[in-house]
Amino acid sequence: MQGLMQDWPLLVHTVLDHARNWHGSQEIVSRTVEGPIHRYTYTDLDHRARQIASAAHSQLNVGEGDVVATMAWNGYRHLEIWYGLMGLGAVVHTLNPRLFTDQLAYIVNHAEDQWMFLDLTFVPILEGVKDQLPNVKGYVIMTDKAHMPAETSLPNVMCYEDLIGEGDAEFVWPKLDENTACGMWYTSGTTGNPKGVVYTHRSNVLHALTTCGGDALSFSSRETIMPVVPMFHANAWSMAFSAPMAGAKLVLPGAQMDGASIYELLDTEKVTLTAAVPTIWLMLLQYLEQNPDLKLDTLQNVVIGGAACPEAMMRAFETKYDTNVIHAWGMTEMSPLGSLGTRKGGLQKMSGDEWWQTKLKQGRPAYSIEMKITDDDGKDLPNDGEKFGRLKVRGPAIARSYFKGEGADAFDNAGWFDTGDVATIDQHGYMQITDRSKDVIKSGGEWISSIDLENIAMGCPGVAEAAAIGMPHPKWDERPMLVIVKKPGEEVTKEQVLAHLDGKIVKWWTPDDVVFTDEIPHTATGKISKLTLRQQFKDHVLPTI
Ligand code: AMP
Repeated sequence: MQGLMQDWPLLVHTVLDHARNWHGSQEIVSRTVEGPIHRYTYTDLDHRARQIASAAHSQLNVGEGDVVATMAWNGYRHLEIWYGLMGLGAVVHTLNPRLFTDQLAYIVNHAEDQWMFLDLTFVPILEGVKDQLPNVKGYVIMTDKAHMPAETSLPNVMCYEDLIGEGDAEFVWPKLDENTACGMWYTSGTTGNPKGVVYTHRSNVLHALTTCGGDALSFSSRETIMPVVPMFHANAWSMAFSAPMAGAKLVLPGAQMDGASIYELLDTEKVTLTAAVPTIWLMLLQYLEQNPDLKLDTLQNVVIGGAACPEAMMRAFETKYDTNVIHAWGMTEMSPLGSLGTRKGGLQKMSGDEWWQTKLKQGRPAYSIEMKITDDDGKDLPNDGEKFGRLKVRGPAIARSYFKGEGADAFDNAGWFDTGDVATIDQHGYMQITDRSKDVIKSGGEWISSIDLENIAMGCPGVAEAAAIGMPHPKWDERPMLVIVKKPGEEVTKEQVLAHLDGKIVKWWTPDDVVFTDEIPHTATGKISKLTLRQQFKDHVLPTI
């Protein structure tokens, strides 16, 4: 027997319909690349999204299935393009401007991008790579006539405000199947070429519902949400969908992500929840340290993910600024949120210290995400908080394949996706990442968690950032080494770092060496680039050899 409920396709424009109908006067605040703060409402966003959809269709001949790239910061025009082009049935492909030119060219050609929408900031980058992009028909610069560059070597250039002026604000969204592709994001490709993840309307809507849930980020129209995580990184952690779905006020910080600029928006816009990778919060906390009178008065929650949140960072937010930290784990392939470190019913009585140890983990999955760990042969491992294994996930907002069938060995026949992360899961369901499988340090056949070493080292006075890598060792295969960046103007020695670790880790995890450097290399998505670091120290010989 078939049920008798309405067959209502889960299309992303329904999120915007809801925001316009029921939260139409709620604000969207953007820091523009031109300088001023821009303000408008969900009603305005709805009109302009329809307008850009209509103009892209009539002027650029963009239709269902066409892939259109954006290289843009978090801002209102970028949001219009997302909703407009997705609503039209086109596929929005966000480009990470921090990628190397060759990777950018590879990605644009591989995705078969037809048009490119770009912020003014990125004109020079695309001028540098345009000759390698023969299939891009033209470039739309996301600004008004007054700010258009006087000259550019980009071919077939248009001004966004001129283009949108040609569009119809009453444009009617076409009826689409909910499994229609709407977004394309490439993985960072630290080994091999980046691979394309293709989101559907359905996966984005379901994922936003999951994200809004009470045990996840608990969004509501009473919140002011500022995603600092860029829209070109992992679907902006869903916030371009989940915030309008909740009817929340949205603050988009644009290109300026330094501590002072982020603080200014948190303060003036009275942000209640914000989200980004740890490097951003390192900058904010340093700025706050330099300005001891400043407080985070309205900020209730800060979501930290994309890389492990060090204990010192969590403690600084919670104890100094009275702001709750939600540690989140996920990946582009998962839309991206996979688990969140919110407190589970039944754990309210867990004591301070025990809860801290749990809260520092990467959290537990919400409904729609299945999660398990297995050994290398695919045998399930117990959730005992001790056994490390390959972390595998499945669910309706998790990729079932990469674009053009690449990387097929990450997916098994039962639908499990091997995340490439190594983790434990404890008896309460809290997962803890110990490493990327390619970064784990193998000493005498046993694994040492580089993330644990880094997090503890980051708590040592004088340490600004720490990275642990495996160094070759004739007896043990590999032994851990810590690479440290000192806090500006502070001193710390190898002996002090080792003394700080003493008692917090098992003896055999103690790094064989601690070295100091001015800067730790990061990938385009803000993670420590272990590959580069290992290359940098390839000639270093451990003193224990
Ligand atoms: P991306 O697709 O760029 O978001 O990268 C996903 C990868 O980032 C994951 O597979 C993890 O290795 C890492 N990652 C994300 N969140 C965390 C976290 N909270 N702790 C540790 N690693 C994380």
